[in-house]
Amino acid sequence: MIKINKFDESMIRKMTVLAEKYNAINLAQGFPEHTKKAIINAATRAIEEDKNQYTVTYGLKELREKLAERIRQERDVNIGYEDIIITCGASEGIIDAVLGNVPRGGNVIIFEPIYENYIPAVQLAGGNIKTIPWDNGKFDMEQLTEVVERGDFIIINTPHNPTGKVFSREELLRIADIAKKYDCIVITDETYEYLTYEKKHVSIASLEDMGGRTITVGSFSKTYSVTGWRMGYIYAKGLLMQNIKSVHDYLTICAPSPFQYAALELLDLPHQYYEGFVESYRKRRDFMAEELVKCGFEFELPQGAYYIFAKLPKFIEMNDIDFCFDLVKNGGVALVPGSSFFYKHDNKRYVRFSFSKDMDSLKEAIKRLNSYLSKKTRK
Ligand code: GLN
Repeated sequence: MIKINKFDESMIRKMTVLAEKYNAINLAQGFPEHTKKAIINAATRAIEEDKNQYTVTYGLKELREKLAERIRQERDVNIGYEDIIITCGASEGIIDAVLGNVPRGGNVIIFEPIYENYIPAVQLAGGNIKTIPWDNGKFDMEQLTEVVERGDFIIINTPHNPTGKVFSREELLRIADIAKKYDCIVITDETYEYLTYEKKHVSIASLEDMGGRTITVGSFSKTYSVTGWRMGYIYAKGLLMQNIKSVHDYLTICAPSPFQYAALELLDLPHQYYEGFVESYRKRRDFMAEELVKCGFEFELPQGAYYIFAKLPKFIEMNDIDFCFDLVKNGGVALVPGSSFFYKHDNKRYVRFSFSKDMDSLKEAIKRLNSYLSKKTRK
């Protein structure tokens, strides 16, 4: 058995297991507590209408057509329905992209901290991971120029999990220039594209001459609060897409059919839905940010996604892993230790908070956190 990550299991999902065991509030794995009734109805209707058998492996044609139209309009990327497939979540999309296209021994460059699913995908493909260290909260673009070699793959994630960074057009232009100069393929995970607070999301595939060398992964999970439906998608051109299709075909056959029909309806939601979605998260971000500063955590305010990646208060002497295991057991709050987002350049002073829970749960979590921390300061 090859070791596919430095931990034997995902720390994000492990913390969910511990949250259930200790009855803790789960600010670890990022998923919301509720789904809007209209969205639930779309799924139950599809099941009632007996849309319960496989769809074609690539996914419903109507859904792919509608998605392609939305991507053309909103992201300015020129794709047709044949350039897109529906996957079992963005997680499958990442695996398809990497397994289908990264050759054995091929280099994959990733900026740290790293959403933990990318590493196992590259390991399973037999690829070679090159990481760019995190420079005190900054993504160092200069280092990309230093490490890149001809034909490398570059994985980016914007809005970024766990830091909430939203890559600016200028940063993406720099990555695109490097990708073109060194003939690289960019794999971009845009799961949180509808969740940006100040800056607008930009897709690297929309930049000049990038459409043919970019694989974009998207998701329904976060945008519509349906993480358990396992609905994602992936788009790319030509051979990149052919390779993705063949991995997907044998790996999962197709994404869940009733949810594909439901997703068709979700794409008709009015723009007010998306505005309300961002506003509800903005309130929760601001609440958590204010409270966590008071607790002594240090962090950059996230520009997107629903995580705060914070440095432990100075008075905490434990490392991130010990802190998270102690907090879930004795403090009733589950977080993810930052170590699980670092691969080569470890950093043991960070933890990730997800603020995807309801306001009442966040308030209760802060209450518990304060009571736990006050015991630590008194020692
Ligand atoms: N993307 C979510 C997170 O980072 C949940 C997916 C997962 O289980 N890794 O928490």
